[in-house]
Amino acid sequence: MAAQTRIALVDCNNFYVSCERVFRPDLTLKPVAVLSNNDGCIVARSPEVKALGIKMGTPVYQISRLIIQHHITLFSSNYTLYADMSARVMTLLESFSPTLEVYSIDESFLDLTGICDKDPLAYGQDIRRTIVQNTGVPVCIGMGPTKTLAKLANYAAKKWPKTAGVVDLADTERRAKLMRQVPVNKIWGIGTRLAQRLNTRGVAIFAKACFGHPSPIKQQKNTRPLMPPAAPIRPRRLVSTQQGVETLALA
Ligand SMILES: [Mg+2]
Repeated sequence: MAAQTRIALVDCNNFYVSCERVFRPDLTLKPVAVLSNNDGCIVARSPEVKALGIKMGTPVYQISRLIIQHHITLFSSNYTLYADMSARVMTLLESFSPTLEVYSIDESFLDLTGICDKDPLAYGQDIRRTIVQNTGVPVCIGMGPTKTLAKLANYAAKKWPKTAGVVDLADTERRAKLMRQVPVNKIWGIGTRLAQRLNTRGVAIFAKACFGHPSPIKQQKNTRPLMPPAAPIRPRRLVSTQQGVETLALA
């Protein structure tokens, strides 16, 4: 029987911050942020900075008080360093799969089909250990039968520490359970505005986006509905992706 497709998404945690911390280990567990080209805005945040409620893209002048109060260390961005660290991570990943697609500076898809069927979680932990030991950059790993589900698994691996940074969604029950908890805006490809529109139609979670029947929008007096009467939202790609059918080819 052919092995079930298993795609892994390896994503570096707080990548720019992690790169800076490699050379400043004293800043581990301390609030650290990296700034945009002109030092104007926050473009990367350590978990400690995220916990302070500081959002991506926040202009520095708006949080000057928080920076002083919480002793946040700021770095100008150093893209030469980040590109070099990224190349190191990707080179290490090549030893774990013959098929790898570098998706962004800190993310890569690996085709693990037939490679680690016996114990995918242990294989994921091996990848994590190798990357952090050799580069100092921590990563989280999500696995699933499609790229979208690998992304979803990665979201879970990052969000819930008890996963120890690796989640495999080969199991359909596990997948359905997670999909019932994940907000629709966390689905790969659904941006803020589309998420808002879906929310308006009662589609708030991943599972409902695949299988739900959104409730019609309540019509207010003397107004036309914002959208036509609701038809079930079942984007074909989402449904097929949930069923384990890949719709995007791995390079
Ligand atoms: Mg990342």
